[in-house]
Amino acid sequence: MATDGINGINGVNGTRSKHDIAALKVSQSRLLDAIHTGCKFGAAHRYGDDPTETGMARLSLNDADKQVRDWFTKTAESLGCSTTVDQMGNQFAVRPGKNATQPPIMIGSHLDTQPTGGRYDGILGVNAGLEVLKVLHENNVETEGSIGVVNWTNEEGARFPMMAVSSGVWAEAVPLETAWNLPEVSAGEDGQRKTMKQELERIGYLGSQPASYKAFPIAAHFELHIEQGPILEAEKRRVGVVKGVQAFKWFEVTVRGRDTHAGTTPFSARMDSMLCAAKLIVESNAIAKKLGGLATTGILNQQPGSINTMAHTVTFTLDIRHVEDAKLSEIEQACRSEFARIAEKESEKGCKVEWKELVDSPAVNFHPDCIAVVEESAKDVCEGLPMTAEDGQLWKHMISGAGHDSCYTNRRCPTSMIFSVTKDGVSHNPQEYCSPEDCAVGVQVLLGAVLRYDQRRAERGDFA
Ligand SMILES: [Zn+2]
Repeated sequence: MATDGINGINGVNGTRSKHDIAALKVSQSRLLDAIHTGCKFGAAHRYGDDPTETGMARLSLNDADKQVRDWFTKTAESLGCSTTVDQMGNQFAVRPGKNATQPPIMIGSHLDTQPTGGRYDGILGVNAGLEVLKVLHENNVETEGSIGVVNWTNEEGARFPMMAVSSGVWAEAVPLETAWNLPEVSAGEDGQRKTMKQELERIGYLGSQPASYKAFPIAAHFELHIEQGPILEAEKRRVGVVKGVQAFKWFEVTVRGRDTHAGTTPFSARMDSMLCAAKLIVESNAIAKKLGGLATTGILNQQPGSINTMAHTVTFTLDIRHVEDAKLSEIEQACRSEFARIAEKESEKGCKVEWKELVDSPAVNFHPDCIAVVEESAKDVCEGLPMTAEDGQLWKHMISGAGHDSCYTNRRCPTSMIFSVTKDGVSHNPQEYCSPEDCAVGVQVLLGAVLRYDQRRAERGDFA
């Protein structure tokens, strides 16, 4: 460890060179040890002999979640952090900087998992924050402003069915009462479906701090997350510099035809809603491909549901995505007009199509200052790694395909994200995996980004 570099961080003039930041190293073994220690709470779905070869079933606000929350608080307090809990159970741990009166930079993610989840989704992000604090703590680094870690409650939306609901309340995008009154998706052993508020109370995490960006302002929010997709691995890269989150819309499409006998109705006399729906789904795929987006049908229901009778009604869901709002609306318009044409002209005697919009989530663009420090840090960290990418670049600008807490924080403070390699692109699965080396690379990029941002704050006079 280059101690002169570290001393330079606390130099009399308060400046920190690129070299100083590079001298601070995350500990891969300590990071992995923390990840797997925390995963003892809620481990499930064993798939191998090694103690760490299990998935997770740590649904938000269950007993295992309480245990890992207690562990989080204890760990953070051992690093000199003060901790608070808000009305949504969001846990904030802050390590004071030289100027502790200004809002902190927060590193955030989530410790809850899917019922058949893995050891990295969200968990890597929170542990990354704790590891950053450990590096600062062990090197006696005094940052310009305060730096902390936040564990956002129920990001997965798996137990209480609203994704990233608690960062949503913090951003004042979701009303507190709506969130508190969310009932769990399935009843507990006593046959009751508890609400979020009841469960927050039961495990002792209904905090008194108002769940709002006004009560707990954040200067900037950074999140390290596994990519959850196959791109970094396929291109043999190590780090994703995430610029935003793609736009998406969800629809329920209903196709109405007529139920008649399969043996006695000639094609020319049919109003076959199933055949029509099949053509529409195929068409949505072609349109999305042509316009560079995605289209998915995940649910399809038909009535009456009989082998020898045509369905009179078919409903299916349509999830369309694109990185640009304008292109997404092009996909939607093309689907609407083509669906109408196919239903009328290419479905024998014709069917009727109705659309119902379920969700409209515009594209998220992260803050340029946050993206810039992540990119600088990624370049630095990648310089020291063996070259594997064909084009000689180990990092890549990316757009997230999935939503995250960072989408909500981005509404109230500068935000950006970092992606780590995900083996086979598999996530929301017990065998979800990010190698120890890639976990550590991600945290190293995070550390460099946070320290650069801290320095920028000082330089632009945030603390003056
Ligand atoms: Zn996640």
